[in-house]
Amino acid sequence: MRNIYGITFEELEKYFLDKNDKKFKAVQVFDWVYKKRINSFDEMRNISKDTINDMMNNFYFQKLEIIRKQEDIDVAKYLFKLSDNELVEAVVMYHDYGTSICISTQVGCNIGCKFCESGRLKKVRNLEVYEMVSQILMVEEDIDKRLSHIVLMGIGEPFDNYDNVIKFIDIVNSGKGIDIGSRHITVSTCGIVPKIIEFSNYDKQVNLAISLHAPTNEIRDKIMNINKVYKIEDIIESIKYYISKTNRRVTFEYIMLDGINDSSECAVSLSKLLKGINCYVNIIPYNETSHIEYKKSNKEKLMNFYDILKKNNIGVTIRREFGSKVNAACGQLRSHYEEE
Ligand code: SAH
Repeated sequence: MRNIYGITFEELEKYFLDKNDKKFKAVQVFDWVYKKRINSFDEMRNISKDTINDMMNNFYFQKLEIIRKQEDIDVAKYLFKLSDNELVEAVVMYHDYGTSICISTQVGCNIGCKFCESGRLKKVRNLEVYEMVSQILMVEEDIDKRLSHIVLMGIGEPFDNYDNVIKFIDIVNSGKGIDIGSRHITVSTCGIVPKIIEFSNYDKQVNLAISLHAPTNEIRDKIMNINKVYKIEDIIESIKYYISKTNRRVTFEYIMLDGINDSSECAVSLSKLLKGINCYVNIIPYNETSHIEYKKSNKEKLMNFYDILKKNNIGVTIRREFGSKVNAACGQLRSHYEEE
């Protein structure tokens, strides 16, 4: 038995073809599931009894359970319970250009970045495709509104769950499915180079964000264990390949950690590193967490860093601070819930 929310459109077409049936049935099923948003096979009125019976023997409908929701003016954070009682979270953000959701891709994370709450909670398992799709469906149902943008920046490392992430993107991007444009989908990675290459060859213009957070290997080694495996030069090389294949501008995320990576020298070397690359830097004010000793950089240091990048003609934005009141940084809601 498979969860209906875990099958891609192409897989469903193949399912019908393998039964010597018409592949058009996949269009009908997707229409019921993702356009009309029905919750059981009985509601699929234009599909024959035999097909329904057959599908009932092979697929089931099941979403996640929302066990907590915290809201602020421009942000809502959801805590989901999975069928094995594990917890993951998603964050919805209201912008002037639309509504975005940040979803989790794993239960916990094994990358172990020193500043990150998710890394404290070791990876338990990958999320199944349906568990990622469910986050979208449940939130849309809850806010009674369609989401316009998806970022894979919640708990987990998307490229450590690559195959499921790609199927998830296929489903949400499919015109027959949830139909969110590939350019409105962003995958954020700590920099797993072979997967960046594989992703570059994926036939969609999905955006890529790299959690760089440091301009030199020396600094990056201290805050991100993954840098011991994939060096900054290798990441830059793979990013150039991604840009050559997709023509998309890449985002480099840069958390400002007080006294660690926020000096003028860091800003200058970052500018040199990124010169000539079709990219921009998204400076992220660090969301402090009670378990981790890093502090956020003050406003002056942050603005100084910003100015130096600007002066060097590097595209740069400062991330708006959503939801620090609702513990919106990766893994924080789950971690608070577990302590209560
Ligand atoms: N594993 C992926 C995606 C999840 S993390 C990645 O590394 O990109 C999403 C982003 O949030 C990363 O840039 C991560 O470094 C950042 N992040 C983690 N903890 C944070 C915190 N406390 N405050 C601000 N950003 C944080």
